[in-house]
Amino acid sequence: SVRWGLIGASTIAKQFMINAIRAQADGEVAAVMSSNPERAKAYASENGIPAAVSTVDALLGADIDAVYISTTNELHLEQGLAAIEAGKHVLCEKPLALTSVDAKQMVAAAKAAGIVFGTNHHLRNAGAHRAMREAIAAGRIGKPIAARVFHSVFLPENLQGWRITRPEAGGGVVLDITVHDADTLRFVLGDDPVEISAFTQSAGMAGSGLEDGAMCIWRFKSGVIAQSHEGFTTKFAGTGFEVHGSEGSLIATNVMTQKPVGSVLLRTASGEEELSFDREDLYTRSLRQFHAAIRGEGQPSATGEDGIWSLASAEAALQSSKTGKSVMIDPQL
Ligand code: NDP
Repeated sequence: SVRWGLIGASTIAKQFMINAIRAQADGEVAAVMSSNPERAKAYASENGIPAAVSTVDALLGADIDAVYISTTNELHLEQGLAAIEAGKHVLCEKPLALTSVDAKQMVAAAKAAGIVFGTNHHLRNAGAHRAMREAIAAGRIGKPIAARVFHSVFLPENLQGWRITRPEAGGGVVLDITVHDADTLRFVLGDDPVEISAFTQSAGMAGSGLEDGAMCIWRFKSGVIAQSHEGFTTKFAGTGFEVHGSEGSLIATNVMTQKPVGSVLLRTASGEEELSFDREDLYTRSLRQFHAAIRGEGQPSATGEDGIWSLASAEAALQSSKTGKSVMIDPQL
């Protein structure tokens, strides 16, 4: 069995990841660590977790094989390095760190230690995005020309905390959502971004100089151009992902989400076709791939390198918005 330790008594673990671990035939949540001992205990008892600790050392000293890190973003690096040093496999939340240089340090340490390291970019596990990737790879839209990503949402009240108040914790919509769009564009297109230009805004929700909206324009290696919109303040926008090619268009609706929902339409000269796709829970699939990787079968669905790419892209977007110039994306991998 794979015994997991949770670093961070977080909302995402409670809403999705604890269930995803327990959905595996060989997955067990053995312990949780919160910086606050009372919170650790309460969280453990609410979620049926046998052990509650309040330091990373205590967690790493427990009988566990792997850790899932879902603390605020400024803590991922130090906690990740400690887990790697203790020989534990690491599934880390995005962004992997506050800078891509830090992320590279963590991923290099994981490689040197020979442990499995993954980034929790859940959208790669969505049947909708996998169906789009397959359709493009099979040539069903001809030569891809342009992509459009609609990922501006409303940040739920219970999450209106560090994301909109704490720059030092890695708040802001770019580190929160643009990283996902970077990863999903790379995955669906099977291509890497080379350049980005971004405008950001503060539309009334985020303070402390943090952005709560962003519009980005991307250029990919193949010449594809893309646009993406990320936001915390648009209650009624809905989400979507489109790829337009020389012979067809893929139009996906309601797919930039944590749930296996939405639809994908293929439009070509022969008409419109609704693509069918797998509706497995995204996080359960992510965990299954991770457990397989621990057994030596394949890689996590998003690797450490994928996490470096998405963070380098977000960094470039922030730099572009600050300087008013487009910025090259080069994670130097
Ligand atoms: P939360 O705000 O729920 O948790 C982050 C930290 O805040 C926790 O580790 C906890 O610290 C502290 N905390 C949480 N609730 C309370 C509370 N009521 N009182 C005091 N402190 C509290 O974060 P999220 O779950 O929203 O995000 C965590 C990480 O996961 C981030 O890196 C984020 O980017 C990522 N994420 C990824 C998603 C994905 O789909 N891939 C989706 C959502 C988030 P402590 O552990 O010390 O108690």
